[in-house]
Amino acid sequence: MDVPDYLQRVADANAAALFDATADHRPDATAIEGETRSFTFSDLHERSRAFAGGLHDRGHTEGNRLLLYLPNCPEYVTTILGGLRAGVVVSPVNPQYKARELAHQLDDTDASVVVTHPALAEHVHEAAADIDADPDVLTVGESTADTTAFHEVSGDPVTVDVETDTTAMQPYTSGTTGQPKGVLLTHGNLRAQAFSGFQFTGLPPEEQRELVFLPLYHITGFTHSTWQTLVRGGTAFVRNPAEWSAETCMREIEEHEITSFIGVATMFVDMVNDESFGEYDLSSLDTVNEGGAKMPVAVQERFEERTGVAMSEGYGLTETTAATHTGVGSSFGYKPGTIGQPLRMTDAKIVDSSGNEVEPGETGELLVRGPQVMKGYHDLPNATDAAFTDEGYFRTGDIARRDAENYYEIVDRKKHMINTAGYNVYPSEVESLLYEHPDVADAAVVGIPDDRRNETVKAFVVRTPDADVTADDIREFCLDNLAEYKHPREVEFVDDLPRTASGKVQKFKLVDEDA
Ligand code: AMP
Repeated sequence: MDVPDYLQRVADANAAALFDATADHRPDATAIEGETRSFTFSDLHERSRAFAGGLHDRGHTEGNRLLLYLPNCPEYVTTILGGLRAGVVVSPVNPQYKARELAHQLDDTDASVVVTHPALAEHVHEAAADIDADPDVLTVGESTADTTAFHEVSGDPVTVDVETDTTAMQPYTSGTTGQPKGVLLTHGNLRAQAFSGFQFTGLPPEEQRELVFLPLYHITGFTHSTWQTLVRGGTAFVRNPAEWSAETCMREIEEHEITSFIGVATMFVDMVNDESFGEYDLSSLDTVNEGGAKMPVAVQERFEERTGVAMSEGYGLTETTAATHTGVGSSFGYKPGTIGQPLRMTDAKIVDSSGNEVEPGETGELLVRGPQVMKGYHDLPNATDAAFTDEGYFRTGDIARRDAENYYEIVDRKKHMINTAGYNVYPSEVESLLYEHPDVADAAVVGIPDDRRNETVKAFVVRTPDADVTADDIREFCLDNLAEYKHPREVEFVDDLPRTASGKVQKFKLVDEDA
């Protein structure tokens, strides 16, 4: 039997070949729909091959680093695919960064080339001058005095041979906890995620319309919203997170009849609290996933009641090329409040402080092992060693428990646990309760130093418009529903919470501001 060429591509180690398989199969379908321009699969295929050739012609070859400092746009994807083909490791960086923050990643990656936007080029030059570097700077759109226009970088198509464990991308971890580390993700990691089963939709590819409002520099926005959608043959509607508003998102869902959407909890909090929630038709949605932070069940229920669409929560980290767990396709039907079950080929276990596996129902650190787990941290052998057990499990740093049916629940980040007078308080438990209060729009709970109790629980609360709930009301509400030691002794009302672009509350900022 003759096997079509596009099926043979699936065996290539270079992750870009997976995209090529789809492009060969469905060349004229729309792959990326941006706000002002869209690419078919064949456009993206040709442009990324020519871009890879152009990178080689300019001296950027296997193992070199490319810093991708660009807001979400179609060329973001061209650059990553081009990098994979050229063997150039793409290191995405938050486009909100200023020169000082950029300098760290430019220095740590030693990038030979930067792809950016003309409006951001100045930051690149400033950062490069700071660390005495001189990268080749390419700008999407017009060239500037010191840059080359991205579209002019074109050469004879190349796709290099790689091994499964060749580094493909080098994102940096979220930075909610300190100095960012470069995460070495391989072609094998990206290949594994293309087939991992996260965000599974029963719709045929030509009907899958995914709305990408997550930042592409963050692993979930790339891996699940975009990469998986493209390999499958669906269309990714790429939007700029800087323009996020709940209403814009809901309008886009209605207008483009979006079928799949992945968001962080904040996005759903915004949607259910928005005045226009209820005005838009969201019935085209087929799969809705949350990931990146714990989903408050009360918000999930409001979203589901109103839209009639079941949501599921997933879990993962930059170090695991995004998801290790998902509620989609779970064997007993998804259980709200959990992250579902481990993805295909993923082993997970929960251990106590001595590394022994705990019984179902007991809490401990979540360990994972699977084809999506990074090979290590860039230039940090000690941190890499410390991140893995002898059996090759990655230590997530998250506290979890699982039930008898193998459903996992994230209790909290190990580092966020509050120790008050010897009692352990997991902030996310208190936060979930606060979300149930009708006058609370958003909330974050932290531990603050306390002479007597070591730490004490403090809640930062954003009230819903016109709410006049007081700190005493909040305290009483918590006392009525939780053990006394868990209630916030301090409550501060704020206008909003500091968050990373990927939606995580930057608790260190709340604690610092408080100190
Ligand atoms: P990042 O590397 O930026 O993707 O951050 C990974 C961290 O996000 C994990 O270690 C968790 O602390 C947190 N996280 C991701 N998904 C969830 C979830 N569903 N529930 C709770 N925390 C989550």
